[in-house]
Amino acid sequence: MTVHGFDTVDLSKLRLSPGAGARLDVSVEIEAMEFASQRYTVGPRPLPVTLDVSRLNGPGFALRARFEAIVQGPCMRCLKPGRIVVQVESREVDAGGGNGGEPADSDPEMHSPYVTDEVLDVASWARDALIVSLPETLLCRDDCPGLCPVCAADLAEVGAGHSHGESPPDPRWAKLSEITLD
Ligand SMILES: [Zn+2]
Ligand SMILES: [Zn+2]
Repeated sequence: MTVHGFDTVDLSKLRLSPGAGARLDVSVEIEAMEFASQRYTVGPRPLPVTLDVSRLNGPGFALRARFEAIVQGPCMRCLKPGRIVVQVESREVDAGGGNGGEPADSDPEMHSPYVTDEVLDVASWARDALIVSLPETLLCRDDCPGLCPVCAADLAEVGAGHSHGESPPDPRWAKLSEITLD
């Protein structure tokens, strides 16, 4: 089952008068992403996005997108499956231009890369906005202790006492030292 058709929105079809606004509920597909050569899927599919579109007083639009995405993939510390929920809010302005109206100035801030001839590429925008909203490391849980750097044991399972120091808490080692001391 593939749901398409809302990946782009033709803003001119909204027929907004200058200064007027509209809210649209659209849905997009965001492909899986790769970070540190691991694969992360983005859900739900399709992903609901709330769009606020305001017509500027001159040509062009002010845009806001909001959505909640679920990103799933291996924890960057322990490689167990992780799942994080990301709240995304992003704003764009596109002052239009080139359509016989007042030529918009060359300020790149005023030209959204996601708007071409009043058609908004919601899918590309949502994907980029999600990427900048992600935490630096994707973890199975905030305090994931990761793997032991010596033996790669999962520190969440073996416990905080796990160590390869001079007095290892592992009871087998304790037994061994008893024998040696005899
Ligand atoms: Zn983890
Ligand atoms: Zn270890």
